[in-house]
Amino acid sequence: MFDVLAPGARLGILGGGQLGAMLASAASEIGFKPYIYAPEANSPAFQRTGRFMCEAYENAERLAEFARSVDVVTYEFENVPIDPLAAIETIVPIRPGVRALETAQDRLVEKQFLAAAAVPLAAFESVGSQDELVAAVQTIGFPCVLKTRRFGYDGKGQLILRSPEQLEGAFDQLGGGTCVLESFVPFFAETSLIAARGLDGTISSYEMALNSHESHILKTTELPSGLPAQILDQAKLFANSILSKLDYVGVMGIEFFVSGTPEEPELLVNEIAPRVHNSGHWTQDGALVDQFEQHIRAISGWPLGDGSRHSDVTMLNLIGDDVHNWQVYAANPNFRIHLYGKEEARPGRKMGHVNCLTKPV
Ligand code: AMP
Repeated sequence: MFDVLAPGARLGILGGGQLGAMLASAASEIGFKPYIYAPEANSPAFQRTGRFMCEAYENAERLAEFARSVDVVTYEFENVPIDPLAAIETIVPIRPGVRALETAQDRLVEKQFLAAAAVPLAAFESVGSQDELVAAVQTIGFPCVLKTRRFGYDGKGQLILRSPEQLEGAFDQLGGGTCVLESFVPFFAETSLIAARGLDGTISSYEMALNSHESHILKTTELPSGLPAQILDQAKLFANSILSKLDYVGVMGIEFFVSGTPEEPELLVNEIAPRVHNSGHWTQDGALVDQFEQHIRAISGWPLGDGSRHSDVTMLNLIGDDVHNWQVYAANPNFRIHLYGKEEARPGRKMGHVNCLTKPV
């Protein structure tokens, strides 16, 4: 038997960005008390709840105090330092667990896990030096992509290698830390799927969506994706395998490359994010239960909600100055605008998003 949290329970969220903010709102909507822990004084999530602690993740004492004051702990980003988190696991359940974080924080561990879960992915090799890079290229071939094992996101910490000349000094160019070399995937589309697994092991996946990027940052997520039904089903099977093998509890974002041809597409998993995901924001207005509530339900031991899509929807990220067009979006009756309350619209900064609903399915 597992513990079901009743409304009124206190949910601890590590991280105070927009994902933490939207998790906090979703938790409040179904009667929980969200409690945020984040180091940045102007965290958007602080605006959504009066309960927060503004402290460093490495502050073991304060983190333990936080853990003692809540009934479950979750997180909104995958680079939470493992050691302080593992230390509070004895105080309070952490969902998703530390294993999911450890897997997603290290590209090599992640790829080894995915390969063991029998999920298709690009060929890869571990690379710990320039010599090992040269050897790995012999196996993988050109073109290939060299990626740092840790702290890579939005295209940072990676290098595409197309010819032997580009090999020279490539390892040092990425900072000299351990890396993974993977084959370059000639994809025609990038997609993602948001999946949830409850405490009882039930899995519910949303429909796979089509993503577009600008300067390596997600720009739009579109549904329907235009991909054939059997590929959408296949993505759900891969999600089942990943979530159950990790004994996962909560919402996960799984990113795919789609290669082959539109008529005969082939899915390869790129990476997993053990948290709610930007490409899942469409669910706020395109499904009955969105990814944020679904995550809160999962970590609280509630049954998962219905994630079926009820409308066609395009999610548009408002990045940097885009947010200044809010009046245009607010004026369209088919658009729903979500703003994060960040003060400064710096280039590349995610300020909000708009869910543009077109026609009912
Ligand atoms: P990542 O940080 O691994 O999600 O990569 C960021 C972006 O780089 C992806 O969205 C792709 O557009 C591109 N990319 C990463 N890995 C590969 C690959 N193996 N083949 C082709 N493009 C890639």
